[in-house]
Amino acid sequence: MRGEEAIMTSRRDFLSNALSVAVVTASPWPIGAGQARSMNGQSDSSSSKSERTSNEISLKWDVFLAPSIAVITSDLPPGQKQRPWPPISSTLISGERDAVLVDAPITLEQARSLANWIATSGKNLTMIYATHGHGDHFFGATTVLERFPSARFVARPEAIKIMRQQASPESLATYWNPRFPGQISSQLAIAEELTGNVIKLEGQDLVSVPLGFTDTAGTTCLHVPSIGLIVAGDAAYNGVHLHLSESPDQQRRLEWIAALDKMESLKPRAVIAGHKRVGKVDSPKILGETRRYILDFERLAMQTTTARELYDQMLQLYLDWGNPGALWTSARAVKPRFDQGEQT
Ligand SMILES: [Zn+2]
Repeated sequence: MRGEEAIMTSRRDFLSNALSVAVVTASPWPIGAGQARSMNGQSDSSSSKSERTSNEISLKWDVFLAPSIAVITSDLPPGQKQRPWPPISSTLISGERDAVLVDAPITLEQARSLANWIATSGKNLTMIYATHGHGDHFFGATTVLERFPSARFVARPEAIKIMRQQASPESLATYWNPRFPGQISSQLAIAEELTGNVIKLEGQDLVSVPLGFTDTAGTTCLHVPSIGLIVAGDAAYNGVHLHLSESPDQQRRLEWIAALDKMESLKPRAVIAGHKRVGKVDSPKILGETRRYILDFERLAMQTTTARELYDQMLQLYLDWGNPGALWTSARAVKPRFDQGEQT
């Protein structure tokens, strides 16, 4: 962590939801990270980067990490009394005047904090891009669009397909609203189809890269070649257990590994995961860490019989990773026949 400008900001602790203190360091933004702070969101400026090439305007990026929030669910991993949702990242890529936002979190409160943070940047928001269709990365777009009505909300068609499923009355009634009662916008905006692969930001290219199946179908990342940035959505995780419950068969897990290979081949200098633990660096190393996690899961799935065994053994390898609830759901998805009575 570079320490030129240590600033105290607030965050909620990942597991306890208790308020605690984090240190945020220098930001290349014209505003200080302190101005961007929020009780409900953290300007995770420690890893911000800015680079200038000779003839081009320098693009900058910064990450808003919506803190972990409580979830109402009885689906708890063994020995746990709660199952908070992990932190969710949104990335603002900005030029001198305009900015593009990548992904928006779940709840109204999270999205309002995100919108305030964008407003504080002083940039003109032209576009919101959704990396994939999971609700925890686009439900908040509605609130951001209300605040920045001239912005367009775009995604690739394969991501929009998943968005429609996630925002369907059935999905909201059975999954999302019971977990976050009264906290999700009742009017969810669905992205319009991105034409072509490129979003222009002050003359520079932000490239939408299709990744196929990672933690769900139809996922993508946004690649910014001029600054070596990949905003990976849920194709990469950073210190948080992976959501593998949509890929109980090996073929899908291999697809995810192919997506990691594809991102690595772009030789990024920074990779932003859709979910990361507070304080983790947005390093390209997370591509290798995500791959290793999938391969460990693969190996231990072969060596174990029950979901509990798989869960316990993975947990031993990734003790400091957040959101063990995701691991528990993943383990049960690959061991459905041995799942009975294991939830206590
Ligand atoms: Zn997610």
